Amino acid sequence: MGLFNLVSGQVTCPRCGNAVDAEVETRLGYAHQASLRVGERYPWNHPAMPPRRPEGGNAVGDGYCVCPACGKDFFVNVVVETDVIRTLEHDATRPGVIPDG
Ligand SMILES: [Zn+2]
Repeated sequence: MGLFNLVSGQVTCPRCGNAVDAEVETRLGYAHQASLRVGERYPWNHPAMPPRRPEGGNAVGDGYCVCPACGKDFFVNVVVETDVIRTLEHDATRPGVIPDG
């Protein structure tokens, strides 16, 4: 399945240091090309599939984005608490794919 959701929000790019309004791809929950923003409720469940909501509505999703300022990529943790997207955080444990320079 190639579907993902897009979560928009502020994140500081680790490649250029700018605070950017990024669009982060994530396959967390019910991935169906939804366009979401930080502060919105996260869609867990497909109407026709078994529920995928995690305990308490808390999860950290794997995200990926390309910085709109410098064009370099990085990985992002999509933090969802009690079903609401709280924040986007750079995942420093995984380097980006697009090389520097
Ligand atoms: Zn950047």
